[in-house]
Amino acid sequence: MSGFLERLKGLNGIARGRRWAYIPYDQLSDGIGVLAREKPRDLAILLIESHENARRRPYHRQRLALLWSNQRHFALEQCGRGMFVEYVISQWPISQVIESVAAKIGSLEMQEAAERELRFELTSLVDAGILRIIPHEGWLTRKEDLAASVAGSSWRMDAFYRHVRRDKAILMEHGRPVGGKYSFDVENRLPWKGRPTAPEMPSFPVDEIKEEVAQIVLEQFSDHPGTLDLASLPASSEDAERLWTWAKNECLPYFGPYEDAMSSQAAGLFHTRISSLINIHRILPRAMLDDAMGLAIPLASKEAFIRQVLGWREFVYHVHCATDGFRLRPEGPEPVMSVQGDGGYGRWSGSSWPGSGQGFGGACPSFLGASNPLPMAWWGKRSGLNCLDTVIADVWRHGWSHHITRLMVVANLAALLDVSPRELTDWFWIAYADAYDWVVEPNVLGMGTFAVGDLITTKPYVSGANYINKMSDYCERCQFDHSTTCPVSSLYWAYLDRHADVLSQNPRMRIIYAALRKRNPEHRRQDQEDYKRVLSALMSGEELRSN
Ligand SMILES: Cc1cc2nc3c(=O)[nH]c(=O)nc-3n(C[C@H](O)[C@H](O)[C@H](O)COP(=O)(O)OP(=O)(O)OC[C@H]3O[C@@H](n4cnc5c(N)ncnc54)[C@H](O)[C@@H]3O)c2cc1C
Ligand code: SF4
Repeated sequence: MSGFLERLKGLNGIARGRRWAYIPYDQLSDGIGVLAREKPRDLAILLIESHENARRRPYHRQRLALLWSNQRHFALEQCGRGMFVEYVISQWPISQVIESVAAKIGSLEMQEAAERELRFELTSLVDAGILRIIPHEGWLTRKEDLAASVAGSSWRMDAFYRHVRRDKAILMEHGRPVGGKYSFDVENRLPWKGRPTAPEMPSFPVDEIKEEVAQIVLEQFSDHPGTLDLASLPASSEDAERLWTWAKNECLPYFGPYEDAMSSQAAGLFHTRISSLINIHRILPRAMLDDAMGLAIPLASKEAFIRQVLGWREFVYHVHCATDGFRLRPEGPEPVMSVQGDGGYGRWSGSSWPGSGQGFGGACPSFLGASNPLPMAWWGKRSGLNCLDTVIADVWRHGWSHHITRLMVVANLAALLDVSPRELTDWFWIAYADAYDWVVEPNVLGMGTFAVGDLITTKPYVSGANYINKMSDYCERCQFDHSTTCPVSSLYWAYLDRHADVLSQNPRMRIIYAALRKRNPEHRRQDQEDYKRVLSALMSGEELRSN
């Protein structure tokens, strides 16, 4: 028997006479739902470590270790409070485990799942009365709040955010936003030149729980990609508190001004790295918001952080729910893959990933008709483009990179190469430890690739080398010269040219299309040649050379 299960057995009381709840892998908190209200000795909870669920995609090893280490620590913490914990480690899908437990103990209560995929899997149990669903108390806003952000047939985060700020009186005084405006984004676009010193992320104890989980991951999930780094993995409630304290003290004072900066010297800069924990509720959004409000830090940083948590995070969740994961669009239903995609894993590893179940494939919008396969550079094969290679190496090392690297390097370069938005989304879902359908799909399909058109953003977030050079130090260490030989700028112009029919009508792109029209025709022809050359080289796994 595993050491963890032995420990749990030693702590567990008797289950009889208690009320049962199923706690999914991403609701690990006793601050919400029935765990927050009932006495622990009246409750029994079911936690499931499903290997079938872990094999659904070739998830980064760090993600599996993060989820299971946290869930195991949570189980012991709850047992320590007097709760009865049934912890099932199984090869079966989650739904089958619940069904078999329910056959012995009767029905269970559950807060609504955040992930559409889990809601879908559990539908028949809900219909059969085995699971009684109560609302998820981890969210700060309600679906009705999304209505305030409707602009024609689109949704806008800034309108949602302004509404929620007013409605909840957050950072407001006398009915007006503190500081005179709702967003300080325009001031917050500084590159980082080495000062102030970027904080080092704390490390966390490597205990027997993590070691046991690591052994399972390395032995039974050895075909999953990514590095396992137990010291950088917060698992206990003390670890979570420590990461958040570090984030409040070391990151948030400088969060605003440098939120768009990128650096090879400090991969995280002043970003909090809290997403993996907030998404599984080891830290509650409500606590983060209250703490951030109380910090004595510059308003531009405080507002910027609150906008991410109260604005973007909640907004993307509601959009995902409202569109049923982008299956339902104003123009009609989107095509959907029958089984889940592998993000290019099969081409990279040489062995295809078994699709484990009908119904788990995602929606495949592609507003610009992009459909190229994802080049192997995203799986770690060197591309010769220093910006891309640096960020991708970080991702496979940590299962994380910060927002601007995701948007303006990883997604930007894939978009410029007309990569299939669905394949890119599946790659993000696999490679990042904080990815769940409700957050990864809006960010990649909506923000990163413009695959859903102007549904949630006004224009594509694409750029050439100028932006990357301005906001990072990647170009200083690159074989290409950002202003003369860099292929990213040619890719950018070629992208605009290829998609002119659709994008040149966009009012927010008028200036850039005016610049394209002034571009020398020979350069425009060369841009298209460069696009074909770079695409073909990266598709065959070749490293680009500057001469
Ligand atoms: C292409 C792309 C893919 C992304 N995929 C994911 C994903 O799979 N999972 C994920 O949690 N976030 C995703 N994001 C959003 C954002 O990049 C991450 O939440 C953030 O980088 C996590 O690092 P952090 O905790 O240091 O964030 P910080 O920069 O410190 O921000 C604080 C918190 O704000 C929230 N937040 C900020 N921006 C967003 C956003 N756009 N959407 C949702 N929440 C946001 C997160 O909870 C984050 O932890 C993606 C963004 C892009 C552009
Ligand atoms: S020069 Fe071009 S390829 Fe090199 S890091 Fe800069 S943007 Fe990337």
